[in-house]
Parts: sequence; C-alpha cells; structure tokens
Amino acid sequence: MRVILLGPPGVGKGTQAQFLMDELKAIQLSTGDLLRAEVRAATELGTKAKEFMDAGKLVPDDVILGMIGRKMQDLGDKAVIFDGFPRTVPQAEGLDKLMESLNMKVDKAIELTVDDEVVVKRLSSRRSCPQCGAVFNLLFAPPKQDDVCDKCGHVGLIQRDDDKEDTIRNRLKVYHDQTAPLSNYYNTQGKLVQVEGDGTIEEVRDRVLAVVK
Ligand code: AMP
Repeated sequence: MRVILLGPPGVGKGTQAQFLMDELKAIQLSTGDLLRAEVRAATELGTKAKEFMDAGKLVPDDVILGMIGRKMQDLGDKAVIFDGFPRTVPQAEGLDKLMESLNMKVDKAIELTVDDEVVVKRLSSRRSCPQCGAVFNLLFAPPKQDDVCDKCGHVGLIQRDDDKEDTIRNRLKVYHDQTAPLSNYYNTQGKLVQVEGDGTIEEVRDRVLAVVK
C-alpha cells in the first residue's frame, strides 16, 4: 500500500507516519527529513535547499522529484508512507508519472486537518536534537530530562530555524496557497480521506488507522 499524508506543517504527519509504518510494515519517505539530512551532511543539494527551508519556502519541484525518484528506485514492492511530499500539484503529477513507470500507484491520500493557531502553538514549542534528528515537543512530548535527547543523550536541544513564529506563519501561507490544492487533486482521483488532526496523539492515531484497516 502507498499512502500520502497531507496536512499543514505541524499537524502531526511525522508522528502519525510512525503508527502507519508499524501497522502497514511500511517505510516512511519524508522529504523534510531527507532534506535535513542533506543539510547536516553539507551536500550541494543541502546547501541549496537550506536557503529555501530557512525562509519557510518550498524547495523547487525538480530538486524534490529528483531526490524522491532516486529513493523510489530501491523500494521494490515495499509499502510506503509519503510524509510532506507531494507539496505542490506538479509534484503530485510527477509522483504519479514516476509510480506509473515503476508499475505502482498511490492508494490513499490521508489529509490531517487542523486550525492554523493550533499549528503555531504546536510548532513554536517543538525542539529537536542537532545530533540524531529526534523530535520533541515541550508541551506535548517533552524529553525525559530537560534539554537532553532521549535517543542519543546529546545535551542541547534546538529550535529549528523554520519553527520560529514568523516562519511558521509563512509556511502556513505557502501551505494554503500551494499544497492545499492537493486535496482536490486526490479527491478527483477518489483517493482522499480527511481526518480531524486536533486531539491527543492516540485519538488521531485511532482515526488514521481506521482509514487503512
Ligand atoms: P517539513 O519537515 O516536511 O515541514 O519540511 C521542512 C521544509 O523542507 C519545508 O518548509 C520546505 O522548505 C522543505 N520541504 C520539505 N518537503 C518538501 C517538498 N515536498 N517540496 C518542497 N519543499 C519541501
């Protein structure tokens, strides 16, 4: 099964992707995570992408499609959860073409919906580990020990540059302008399911899993 997770930044796509991975024995393809790994490794792609990311803008479609294309080659018939991709209609069209060439298809697009103000509150309290990339939320999922990564023990959690309030508001605008039209794209294909994204992690998980069961 190939599932796309849609929804604004901070709605919890990454968190819910983990539950879907367990349920479907799937792997997760997060373009945000792939890009951050490129930035950490200071590759040419990462250096180019960082400028867009820090400004809360979308990285150009050709860069994203190239990156996903390379990943998809090695997937075989594994189930995949796409998280944070596609973000624009041209990316969705590119993914459909890529899938077709590999004899695959998108099965469902699950859209998590939530108010903008909930997103601002959630994202401005998000912190991550600069060493291993683990993500915490000071309000909802704090680290066990203040400022220490639960996963790798690194001391000093950081706020992503793109989780500062001005940038969050800009990312929301970009989302409404460029990504929200994807609901219509997948609705027309009969693949869209909308799920309320406000509530506890477990409440949202149960709603999401009900869609794929
Ligand atoms: P995310 O972690 O998914 O919120 O992504 C963080 C940032 O990476 C975004 O604000 C964009 O700058 C960039 N990014 C991630 N995925 C994409 C994508 N599919 N298309 C364009 N830019 C992306």
